Amino acid sequence: MKTKFNLNNLIRENIKSLKPYSSARDEYKDVTTDEMIFLDANENPFENGVNRYPDPQQNNVKDLLSEIKGVAKENILLGNGSDEVLDLIFRAFCEPNKDNIITLPPTYGMYDVLANINAIENKRVLLTEDFQPKVEHILEAVNTNSKILFLCSPNNPSGNSFSSESIEKLLNSFKGLVVIDEAYIDFSEQKSWIEKLEEFPNLVITQTLSKAYGLAGIRLGVCYASVEVIAVLNNIKPPYNVNELTQQKALERLLKIDEVKKEVSEIMNQRDLLLESLKEVNFINTIYPTDCNFVLVKVDDATKRYNQLIKKGIVIRNRTTQPLCENCLRFTIGTERENKKLLQVLKEI
Ligand SMILES: *Cc1c(COP(=O)(O)O)cnc(C)c1O
Repeated sequence: MKTKFNLNNLIRENIKSLKPYSSARDEYKDVTTDEMIFLDANENPFENGVNRYPDPQQNNVKDLLSEIKGVAKENILLGNGSDEVLDLIFRAFCEPNKDNIITLPPTYGMYDVLANINAIENKRVLLTEDFQPKVEHILEAVNTNSKILFLCSPNNPSGNSFSSESIEKLLNSFKGLVVIDEAYIDFSEQKSWIEKLEEFPNLVITQTLSKAYGLAGIRLGVCYASVEVIAVLNNIKPPYNVNELTQQKALERLLKIDEVKKEVSEIMNQRDLLLESLKEVNFINTIYPTDCNFVLVKVDDATKRYNQLIKKGIVIRNRTTQPLCENCLRFTIGTERENKKLLQVLKEI
């Protein structure tokens, strides 16, 4: 028999007993007329567009996201980038100097940084040579203090998605939270795990407006999880963690979702073209499959090629120091003009 998942066993004691900060705008919610006079938050009363505190629950942005992603609003939490969302998850569930997380290198660097900041041990279980999770090894690494397993799928920097069988096995077997980082899901043919939220109470999904939505500059990260997990994160988030300008800009963009989809499809076309042309570059030995807006390649000498590209004015990411990524470079897919230039330079050097 599967033991029933109990979120209460995962929440830190101090968080369980926390009395959250109640902001002026939290206490007053029942706006009934347009003529309300707000003298509750010590704001400057002269209107300039941002003189008022922003909505602490970002209701308008969540309404649109809820519609676009097909998730109830109660299952959504927004943060100042995924980075804040991930940090909130650490602080809610991981006891410093006691608990641990599990990550699968090579992967996104922030999980390890956040583990260090929060004094949490990071147990690393390398991916296979073709960048898939080693399910048995992962489950062997787990102990009673393992609170979170981070699965980045599609994975940065390898670009591939993890097999759904492996993910499902881990969701069923791991007793802590499984965070699936879907920062690149909109570039993938794979389905988001969002539709499995009801099925797996330990599933937490993070996404971002930084990549496909073209809004890296406004810092907006999204978390989808059970109502219970979202409630815990809501209790500890800074009250006004998503500023008014960010909420306005996100709304504007989400209202033009067709433009986003057009750009994503253009990037995916460009990705296919680039993948084909990279085969003609003689010092590229392997082109890894990708579900992202970047591609990882293995070359003869990554650091030499990286420096040559910099001299020609092209900045890419050298991943050679990452496990399983010896002599690997990561190229982001740019515009048609940028990709053509990249290819021309690759052929020259
Ligand atoms: C880029 C990226 C993010 C985005 O982080 P933000 O803080 O939302 O900009 C998250 N996860 C992965 C794996 C990424 O590559």
